[in-house]
Amino acid sequence: MTGEVGRPGAGELVVVRNRAELAAALARAPRPLGLVPTMGWLHAGHRSLIARARTECATVAVSIFVNPRQFGSRADLAKYPRSEARDLAICAEEGVDLVWAPGVDDVYPAGFDTTVRVGAVAAPLEGAARPGHFEGVATVVAVLFGVVRPDRAYFGMKDAQQLRVIARMATDLALTTVVPCPTVREPDGLAMSSRNVHLSPAERAAAAVLHRALAAGRARWEAGERDAGAIRDAVRATLAGEPLAGVEYVSLADDVTLAELDRVEGPALLSLAVRFGSTRLIDNLALG
Ligand code: AMP
Repeated sequence: MTGEVGRPGAGELVVVRNRAELAAALARAPRPLGLVPTMGWLHAGHRSLIARARTECATVAVSIFVNPRQFGSRADLAKYPRSEARDLAICAEEGVDLVWAPGVDDVYPAGFDTTVRVGAVAAPLEGAARPGHFEGVATVVAVLFGVVRPDRAYFGMKDAQQLRVIARMATDLALTTVVPCPTVREPDGLAMSSRNVHLSPAERAAAAVLHRALAAGRARWEAGERDAGAIRDAVRATLAGEPLAGVEYVSLADDVTLAELDRVEGPALLSLAVRFGSTRLIDNLALG
């Protein structure tokens, strides 16, 4: 019943566009309500978030919105892959009750003039590499939370810093419960990502080095290495073996604050950003 406002939780996928349709659908939705925010071009990573929400919530809602505010360049925004028909088929397969697929004006109506800025945890890594990115992310997620009012919201550990930024915001502003979900990977270890579609066959094969490099770092840590520099070096050494990999950063940081470490004494996050041609990929592994 795509395009009509039905009752979520009744076994049929309801697709809504504007806030009035969404409000009507939400008013009839059984609780608890779980929200899975996405930018579409859904893959097995998104499916795993939906499946987790399905086990915990009476109503599962997915938002599909490519958020202009979190892209640094118009070119990057323009080339982001989109296929609503494909996304809706996947949502139906996964038993989603409600999809909100708004236009830009539905999310940011005329006069919209608020920016949400999270503090220290948004500053390093992706925050440093992509100025304004996390402000765009926090602002759109605040709107999604405000409009949908989910009881729980599901985010992937693949975007580890984003997860921390949103969890910080959700806690500080008492918005909802954020549920972290594990990274889903291809058989060769590459983390699923909508951006993988841009990789040439050679780049796609080369990108398997990301997980190998992270695993090499984790192996050093498992063997007892506690010097953070030595662990970062092990990651870089593996990446250096792949000529197509243009390394942007390799980080070993405190798991909570994301401050770079000298020594690994507690839970830590090993993460990286690497370019393959014009495609920028991120990945991470938790240590401890
Ligand atoms: P995106 O559509 O890329 O904005 O991602 C929407 C949500 O799916 C975010 O919470 C991501 O962290 C999550 N996600 C993306 N890729 C994966 C993956 N490979 N495994 C688990 N979650 C993922």
